[in-house]
Amino acid sequence: MRQQGVMKASMTWSPAAGLNVVSVERGGQAWTITLGSQQLSVCPGCGARSKSRHSTYWRTLRDLSAQGAPVVINARLGRWRCRNQLCDRRIFTERVPGLASPFARRTVRLAEIVRLIGYNAGGRPSERLMKRLGMPVSDTTILAGLRKYAGARSETGSLASSVRVAGVDDWAWRKGHKYGTIIVDLERRAVVDVLADRSAATMTNWFRDHPNVDVVSRDRAGLYAEAAREGAPQAKQVADRFHLMQNFRETVERQLGGYEAPIRDSRISGGGNQALPALPARSDRRSDAVARTRLIRRDRQAVRQQIFNEIRALFEGGNSIGEIARKLGLGRRRVERWVRRIDVPDHNTMASTPSSPAYFGVLLERRWAEGITKVRHLFEEIRRRGYTGSFSHLARFLAPWRSGAPSLDDDEQEALAPVRVRTLDAMTGRAISPLIAAALCIKPRGQMTARQAASVDALKAGSAEFTTMRRLAMQFRGVLRSGTTERLDAWLTDARASGIYAMQRFAKTIHQDLEAVRNAVSEPWSNGQTEGQINKLKTLKRAMYGRAGVDLLRARMMPL
Ligand SMILES: [Zn+2]
Repeated sequence: MRQQGVMKASMTWSPAAGLNVVSVERGGQAWTITLGSQQLSVCPGCGARSKSRHSTYWRTLRDLSAQGAPVVINARLGRWRCRNQLCDRRIFTERVPGLASPFARRTVRLAEIVRLIGYNAGGRPSERLMKRLGMPVSDTTILAGLRKYAGARSETGSLASSVRVAGVDDWAWRKGHKYGTIIVDLERRAVVDVLADRSAATMTNWFRDHPNVDVVSRDRAGLYAEAAREGAPQAKQVADRFHLMQNFRETVERQLGGYEAPIRDSRISGGGNQALPALPARSDRRSDAVARTRLIRRDRQAVRQQIFNEIRALFEGGNSIGEIARKLGLGRRRVERWVRRIDVPDHNTMASTPSSPAYFGVLLERRWAEGITKVRHLFEEIRRRGYTGSFSHLARFLAPWRSGAPSLDDDEQEALAPVRVRTLDAMTGRAISPLIAAALCIKPRGQMTARQAASVDALKAGSAEFTTMRRLAMQFRGVLRSGTTERLDAWLTDARASGIYAMQRFAKTIHQDLEAVRNAVSEPWSNGQTEGQINKLKTLKRAMYGRAGVDLLRARMMPL
């Protein structure tokens, strides 16, 4: 009798309301549950009940596993006639609301689990996990489901259309080559969208589709600023404080590395189109020839500097190397070499992994100070210690450390060769690189180790320029925290009067984006959380190898 009771209980169990279990069988590999059709059904067209069955058909659904084994539901469902004269439908198929959507091959609850695991673990790992759990599903199906779900959600636009405070930033498909855009709802701390490119046009359209945006937090003045002006003129723009400090650091680094000093001739470093002295009409005497050579060289330097400025403007404006090369009619490799001097290692190097040279920064610094500067040697050494990145990545990482200009053509190197003051680390007696010195320059003393503080003191003692830049850095930090914009104006005046090219340039950039920088001082918003989302995106991108399309990244970045 007891056995009978168990049997009866299992027979009344049903995968969904209104369906009755006809049989439950355990085969070699899976459970098969056969369900019987209802006695009557409701027309999806008009809602009228029908008792008139036309025919039956079998529908097969996969369900959650039982005892670790797959579960297959075979439901014998009806095709029914609608007898309502006013209804367009003559025949309809029986639905199983709550169990599965009309054309699905999985039950709703299984589809949810697949999506949840796929979202968190990605395609291949989910495939393995689901197989182990008795719910086999291929990674392509998992990923297709995720994409479809995210696509449907961004079409209904529930999340995106209501975003009021948008944090916008770029992320690299391939650093220095191809960038995408991420948009975060700063109020809800959720990713709103991931765009395949970094262009003013795409972003402008995005803003036009999202008219509720009141505040746009973005990095430097450039294409996002332009896009917001164009597509969201109602919105207040806020320059991101973190990026401002990083821009400051990069400016300091260029100054210390000598990259910032354009060329020694002040007439040219003014940046305008000042006329160069005319060449002497005749140059038969030797001294004339020398003077002439010098003038030609100076002329070429001016041209180079101009090209460099244009490349930098385009690069900082978000253009890829390919685009810059096309626009300026230059060779791609040449642009690449020049961009390397602008594109100093980004601010995420702190949170680095063994695939990044920054992970071995301390070791590299030490070797560098010991005079080992050949990329090949350093590459071998860190590879033995677990470096998984590429040779060229390391070469790019080291490029700003070279005391001369990086590997430009020989005469370019001469033209732009920096005058460097090498300050030695107080503890080790080794040179402090511009990279480290710049990072120290903007770091508050309260956050420093004793050794860092000693280095700062040494740098200050060795360079009046460093001392001034450090004072300005600390004051700038104070301005950003102060919440009052008056101090910003005073700071700008101070920076302009400092006599240091980099500080004047930085002040000029701030001035060009003054409204947004003022807002950065007075508004609470910043892109701090956007950085976090970008790190997550990078991790996802790496985990998906080359297979990550933007739709998939979007699907996995937006909240489920
Ligand atoms: Zn009907």
